[in-house]
Amino acid sequence: DRKKLIAGNWKMNGSIASNDALVRAVVAGMKDAACTVAVCVPAPYLAQLQLLRHGSQLELGSQDVSPHEQGAYTGEVSAAMLKEFGVRYAIVGHSERRQYHGEGDQQVADKAKAALAHGITPIVCVGETLAEREAGRTEEVVKRQLAAVIHTNGHCISEIVVAYEPVWAIGTGKTASPEQAQQVHAVLRAQLKAATGKADRIAILYGGSMNAGNAATLLAQPDVDGGLIGGASLKAPDFLQIIAAAR
Ligand code: 13P
Repeated sequence: DRKKLIAGNWKMNGSIASNDALVRAVVAGMKDAACTVAVCVPAPYLAQLQLLRHGSQLELGSQDVSPHEQGAYTGEVSAAMLKEFGVRYAIVGHSERRQYHGEGDQQVADKAKAALAHGITPIVCVGETLAEREAGRTEEVVKRQLAAVIHTNGHCISEIVVAYEPVWAIGTGKTASPEQAQQVHAVLRAQLKAATGKADRIAILYGGSMNAGNAATLLAQPDVDGGLIGGASLKAPDFLQIIAAAR
């Protein structure tokens, strides 16, 4: 049985003052959590979060990682740097980075590899756009995105986390139905199974307008092992309700 993972993706939100209040409330409220809980924060706040989470069960994540080890890559943050702040997870290939920063499948796969090389678990995001879903291309798209990560990471693939995030569900209030999510998660699980004998222990998260109201039914699906939460992770009561629904 896989332990569920609830990861907040703050995206480009927060301030030193608001982070303090949010994290204190989350840490206080998650004491009896049955799942693993993480927050993926903007890089400038990693040091603050490292202090705030000290002594708690809250895990820390980044929203991106450089595929490069070190050197002349202005603006990039390396996996080794993230590791110094106690980062356990790194989101890679979020659709906002694919859309607005031109990230391709191979670049995402290389980022996952850089994270794994430093003992950081990449949360690999895949997902189709509305046009792709309507054209009946959902499976083809998510399988292509995941295939690059599988081919680049070989036997390490059992160490990743996958997040299925249909682009049309992100920040729109339109959630995939539990059946739609389960269907894609099962496809991804089968693809992972073909690549590794340890696919049963790989967590596949759902992301896209998951909230306090719909989390329980999504998380009840056999292949939905947690959530990647955007907007609802910025409000402690909402995030805590999702955490409570993950058991
Ligand atoms: P929302 O929960 O705001 O729809 O965002 C989902 C997401 O993109 C998490 O990575």
